[in-house]
Amino acid sequence: MSTPLSDAAKSTEAVNSNQNDDTPNQTAWSPDSWQSKPMKQNVTYSNQTSVSHALQKLKSLPPLVAAAEITKLRSLLRDVARGNAFLLQGGDCAELFDYCTSTQIDSKIKLLLQMSLVLIWGGNIPVVRIARMAGQFAKPRSSLTEVVHGREIMSFRGDNINGYPIDQRDPDPDRLVQAYFHSAATLNYVRAQLASGFADLHSPFEWTLNHVQDDETKHQYQSIVSGVQDAIRFMRTIGADNSSSLGSVDLFTSHEGLMLEYEQCLTRLLKDQTDGKMKWYNTSAHFIWIGDRTRQLDGAHVEYFRGIENPIGIKVGPSMENEELCRLLDIVNPNKEVGKITLITRYGHEKVEDKLPGHIQAVKKSGHVVVWQCDPMHGNTRSSTSGVKTRQFDHIITELATALKVHKENSSRLGGVHLELTGEAVTECVGGSQGLTDKDLSLNYTSYCDPRLNNKQALEAAFLIAGYYRD
Ligand code: PEP
Ligand code: MN
Repeated sequence: MSTPLSDAAKSTEAVNSNQNDDTPNQTAWSPDSWQSKPMKQNVTYSNQTSVSHALQKLKSLPPLVAAAEITKLRSLLRDVARGNAFLLQGGDCAELFDYCTSTQIDSKIKLLLQMSLVLIWGGNIPVVRIARMAGQFAKPRSSLTEVVHGREIMSFRGDNINGYPIDQRDPDPDRLVQAYFHSAATLNYVRAQLASGFADLHSPFEWTLNHVQDDETKHQYQSIVSGVQDAIRFMRTIGADNSSSLGSVDLFTSHEGLMLEYEQCLTRLLKDQTDGKMKWYNTSAHFIWIGDRTRQLDGAHVEYFRGIENPIGIKVGPSMENEELCRLLDIVNPNKEVGKITLITRYGHEKVEDKLPGHIQAVKKSGHVVVWQCDPMHGNTRSSTSGVKTRQFDHIITELATALKVHKENSSRLGGVHLELTGEAVTECVGGSQGLTDKDLSLNYTSYCDPRLNNKQALEAAFLIAGYYRD
């Protein structure tokens, strides 16, 4: 946003950054220090008074997540970075306010849980689950405008900025407040469901494989399902499914930290229970990430992210240079804390083999220990024959399989996967064992942004990863 925040919304408190002396960005960090840096994807509002009101309101509202939960996730991601757990992150590309319904939330958490069971069985290690949910509203766009009916209008930039209908494309600051309340309602329902046993192993999961057309694949998946079911039965028999660790599970929330005005308002100075010190936490979600379009070393987003305690992600696309990646890590994690940073690589199936080895080697040499996560979605988007945005399931799987292989060849480890998915039976990505083609895309294409894996395709991706670890 080109307009500075109102004085009331600004933080006057500046803290010394935790930077080493030899890294760039030596100035003191504060929740609003990003405002003096150049920003990509900024939003210009026409009514500054309404912006000030919205930001003031956000500043007064309570945190959405607690410092202790953020600390817990940070510790779990340390386990992932050390190879003792796997990270599953998934959800919509653009979450809409309308997705805040019990049915849609239930189907998404159920799918993530089901996938995590498959991955736990496959890798024989715990799975850390992070949903792209309860705040994944703001979208970076390659083109900030589009031409509709001969008129140039602003692109849809996510429900917390503007609306998809063409008469709602002007940015409305009240949407930032609405975003908070939709996040709160979603999070409240997720917490309630998990606390009342929705996630326990008695939940009936849908394991039918009738849609799998190829017999050999069906057989392979059936043996994974049997393995998972046997393990669940065994735990029931010995009574382990009622233990507290299985009766309830953790599901953390995440989104791209794109709208820094919003993120700043939810940045709070809270006590770290582990050492009693006051620290800055982003309380809008447990985990936020920097997008591939906003990761400039001297830019506003990197400046904001370097000051928060949360574990953070950085999208790493094919244009990232090896040295640039190491400098970025030094800026956001000068103390080289293990697992603080998740590198979310998204090169595309044709570039992964070329780009990933250099990144792995450079990071190794730098002494940083990160979580390596593969996002096989964002480098693999193409236009269908009728001009609809889609992704091919086999390209997604190829990027994943190549990332697994390259990590192994480089004595590294793929620690997690980042997927755009939905629990609904949409037809947005082609391929997979249902055999969806370009022609099927019109059947149930509901995404307003990137195409998501449907429930069956997402579970199939989990089967394939599990199979890889088992073999
Ligand atoms: C996204 O995750 O939806 C996204 C826009 O990703 P990237 O920044 O990697 O393009
Ligand atoms: Mn996306």
